[in-house]
Amino acid sequence: MGIEHFGTVSFTSETKAAGFVTFLEQGKVMATRCRKCGASCFPPKMDCPKCFSSDVEWFEIKGSGKLATYTVVNYGPTGFEDDAPYILALVAFGDGLQVFGRLSRDIEEGDIKVGMELSLVPIKLPKDRIAYEFQTAHGNTPHG
Ligand SMILES: [Zn+2]
Repeated sequence: MGIEHFGTVSFTSETKAAGFVTFLEQGKVMATRCRKCGASCFPPKMDCPKCFSSDVEWFEIKGSGKLATYTVVNYGPTGFEDDAPYILALVAFGDGLQVFGRLSRDIEEGDIKVGMELSLVPIKLPKDRIAYEFQTAHGNTPHG
């Protein structure tokens, strides 16, 4: 799986998951869950990768997850060269749901810790692209 492309793809070309973009525009990051076997899937898939059922439903990825691992990407994919370097993270949201995405640039590399709490936030990009990124989930916690 080419995770280096993740978080920078334009989802608009993926017609089967077009609803994903609509949800993003509404400020929601959505995944799919299979009604038959319960497998959750991100990015969303209209066919369950485990039991191949097409009986899947959308659900919103809410709250925060825990950083499982991350990697620094020094070369952006074609069309996104200017984005590099950036940091790709794998975040576990429970129920076996793991989400790949980019870390917000507000997070310094030196502050990244495996296990830190992150939340998924939709972001607008230039050229009408829309994506999502991970931001720290500390809410209104004061500094110190
Ligand atoms: Zn299934």
